[in-house]
Amino acid sequence: MGILEDFRKMLADIPLWKELGTAPERIKALEEKVAALEQLTGGKRPGDSCPYCGAASFRLDHVDMHGQREVWKCTDVACGKSKETRHDLMNKPRGKAGTFGR
Ligand SMILES: [Zn+2]
Repeated sequence: MGILEDFRKMLADIPLWKELGTAPERIKALEEKVAALEQLTGGKRPGDSCPYCGAASFRLDHVDMHGQREVWKCTDVACGKSKETRHDLMNKPRGKAGTFGR
């Protein structure tokens, strides 16, 4: 019994061993938090941050022009703003931007 008792005392002095003892409780608490968050988002990933109102509800609405134009909309009822991104006009030298800008 003396050797086992010494071994238990030695384990109790190791910080990681103490932490392992609290792991099941902490894992259960985290599982409950994840379940609550999943319920809040309806199982969907939150949208990007809206550049207008800051809500995590900025989502891709549609893509057209063979993927060259994207329209993003804020699904927050109070905001509802949208943003258009034109990939065909990006990264081109000035003066060669087509019908936009000039
Ligand atoms: Zn917004």
